[in-house]
Amino acid sequence: MEKICDLHIHSKYSGGTSTQININKIAHNSNIKGIEIIGTGDCFHPLWLKELQENLCEYSNGIFFLPKTPRVKFILQSEVELMWTQNSQIKKVHFIVLVPNFDKLKEIYEFIINFGNLKIDGRPVLNISAEKFILKMNNIDDMIEVIPAHIFTPFYGILGSKLHFNSLKEAIGQGINYIHAIETGLSADPSMIRQLSELNNLSIISNSDSHSLNFHRLGREATALELNNIDYHNVIESIRKKKITKTYEFNPSEGKYYYDGHRSDRHSSGKDYFCSPKRNLINCPVCGKMLTKGVLSRVYELKDQEIPVIENFQYIIPLLHLIAIVYGGSEYSKYNVSLYRDVVNTYDGEFNIWNKESVFEEVPFELSNAIEKVKSGKYWFIPGHDGVYGELQFEA
Ligand SMILES: [Zn+2]
Ligand SMILES: [Zn+2]
Repeated sequence: MEKICDLHIHSKYSGGTSTQININKIAHNSNIKGIEIIGTGDCFHPLWLKELQENLCEYSNGIFFLPKTPRVKFILQSEVELMWTQNSQIKKVHFIVLVPNFDKLKEIYEFIINFGNLKIDGRPVLNISAEKFILKMNNIDDMIEVIPAHIFTPFYGILGSKLHFNSLKEAIGQGINYIHAIETGLSADPSMIRQLSELNNLSIISNSDSHSLNFHRLGREATALELNNIDYHNVIESIRKKKITKTYEFNPSEGKYYYDGHRSDRHSSGKDYFCSPKRNLINCPVCGKMLTKGVLSRVYELKDQEIPVIENFQYIIPLLHLIAIVYGGSEYSKYNVSLYRDVVNTYDGEFNIWNKESVFEEVPFELSNAIEKVKSGKYWFIPGHDGVYGELQFEA
């Protein structure tokens, strides 16, 4: 069976998240959206862990649910920021960690508490090299899955421009033997990943990295996995053995770090600046300081092959975001959220809409027209850059 998964989210205890996030609401909104397996987010934060332990019921080995929303299954998950010095430079890299059960979580917890304060942030900062961390996780249990997160993003992606690692091997040494998958991040897609031969044997997954419960954030990128059974072991085996049937991707140009650029608040003039990496600009023509190099730039720098992409992936635009563009107002307006809920309810989840061949009789004409345009590629983005999302433009 195929299951839609979002294996990287955050709780209210991570920086920049909504205080409204609780485990019931995550399940409730995932159910409406059609996400069937979701990461708990932040499972090493003591207060969030308590909420998880008090509320989650075991469905099968390593898979949990809430009785009110049995369709949505949870997997224990956190993002961690690993910080260490290498080549006289401080490195800070983000990894997703998937945990087999609460007993193993406790073992991990007792190890990582030596390297950082777990109470400060749901995404803990740990003073340990990625190599040591990955080897230790494998030592605790070889089913703990460590996945480099949003690998090309400039500041915290393992191959991002600010980290100056030119390969995974350089960043994680022997740890490379225990990495099976990487996360694309919003500004990259499988066709960009596949331009680096070092990543050939790794699976590609996509997740939302959501810091909010809203329908345009949760599951905004997602991974469909083929599973024999819904248990932790099967989810991990499916990722490791490339039984990924599809990833749902942002068009990379919508992502916040696609082009090189400087966002407007860096300039006293309030002027935004971005440019194609093909221009090879190092410094910003507006302020003269070094531009934030985007993901596309990094892929050009690291690219060493051209091979056909065998991964099945589809560009989507979060449907609630699309509704807000078509009808005006924000993703938080009552009208837009209510229309979103009506539409996804009709199709039993948003992903069934993106998977549908065509013709949306039950959807208002303007929206069905916009969906068709997205599905047929009749759109483009003013490219995202330096932390600013790309802006959707439809072709006539
Ligand atoms: Zn991150
Ligand atoms: Zn500038």
